[in-house]
Amino acid sequence: MNILVINCGSSSLKYQLIEADKEEVLAKGLCERIGIDGSAITHTPAGGDKVTTEVPMKDHKDAVKLVIEKLTDEKVGVIKSLSEIDAVGHRVVHGGEKFASSVVINDEVMAAIAECNDLAPLHNPANIIGINACADVMPGVPQVAVFDTAFHQTMPKKAYMYGIPYEYYEKYKVRRYGFHGTSHDFVSNRAAEILGKDRKDLKIIVCHLGNGASISAVKNGQSVDTSMGLTPLEGLIMGTRSGDIDPAIISFIAEKDGITADEVVNILNKKSGVLGLSNGLSSDFRDLGNAADEGNEMAKATLEAYAYRVAKYIGSYTVAMGGVDVIAFTAGIGENNAQVRAMVGEYIACLGTSIDPEKNKIRGEEVILSSDSDKVVTMIIPTDEELAIARETVRLTK
Ligand code: ADP
Repeated sequence: MNILVINCGSSSLKYQLIEADKEEVLAKGLCERIGIDGSAITHTPAGGDKVTTEVPMKDHKDAVKLVIEKLTDEKVGVIKSLSEIDAVGHRVVHGGEKFASSVVINDEVMAAIAECNDLAPLHNPANIIGINACADVMPGVPQVAVFDTAFHQTMPKKAYMYGIPYEYYEKYKVRRYGFHGTSHDFVSNRAAEILGKDRKDLKIIVCHLGNGASISAVKNGQSVDTSMGLTPLEGLIMGTRSGDIDPAIISFIAEKDGITADEVVNILNKKSGVLGLSNGLSSDFRDLGNAADEGNEMAKATLEAYAYRVAKYIGSYTVAMGGVDVIAFTAGIGENNAQVRAMVGEYIACLGTSIDPEKNKIRGEEVILSSDSDKVVTMIIPTDEELAIARETVRLTK
């Protein structure tokens, strides 16, 4: 079965065509600047070179048409015709309380996704546009929605409620939802597989450390807590997002600088995190790592604050679950950044684990970092959200 995995942003569309039986990526690519001057598609067939073509794309429907053109192209294509696409799997950011698992998309589902727009105003409308575009270009091909929030719907109320008046939950559904669910589910599953154990018997902490970053506590196979909240702004210090702050900071800065709360939140989303903390040095951990190695004190202090926050969450989730068996690092930083892992490793040594400096040099591969005698296993597990979406799509459409 060939599954087209689609991840739509407001002006972008990422895609992968995956042959699901062998779990092979046939081709992948990205449409950028949709609806903006200078739009382009970058297409990479498996084993081939990346080809970027500037093509006007006025909307996501144009983008989907172009994706199909590339996938079926004589030179860079990997299938003969549209009929070789058996189903489409969409990443949908917010499923609110309506979706605790992936679903086959129909009119009712579309309406329910639209009802979650308020909760993710930048993401869900783009996801809906992407689904409609695929339905137009590929009528009759089944489509599946895989939600970032779904895996965390098992959190108990004590974990998802904020200490604010209950009416905001009742009126506006203000609560913790959590994100990166597909990744937390995939990585915790894989951790159990690698250890030859049943996930139902394990307490796992997944550290998804990418540009956006979140940690989850997965107990007996279910997410019981996670660091992102109503929106992806809460929790860890991220590339450009602040993570946890005193909420009073918002009105304090708004008043001092004469800006609105919305503008402050925008700063918290786009100009904060390690970018803000390093006084604008970089949001990229490679730059920060290099600067720290060259003795830049600001970069060092930023990395220290970052690792400290990660370690504090690991500590709190250990207590929340009544212990921990596995701590897994994933995503860009978790998979590749030995420096950050080593810094976190120093804190979590008190839990009865270790990070072997030699094994810690490995990048982007599955590896157990702790030693056999440790009480807690630490490991690197590369995440694969596209593959997880393809698997869900197969499960629901086969
Ligand atoms: P997202 O998918 O959320 O945009 P990623 O998971 O790709 O983000 O993570 C991006 C982060 O991973 C960047 O800060 C980048 O510096 C870091 N990263 C990627 N590769 C490396 C590497 N080889 N060494 C150190 N950091 C890396």
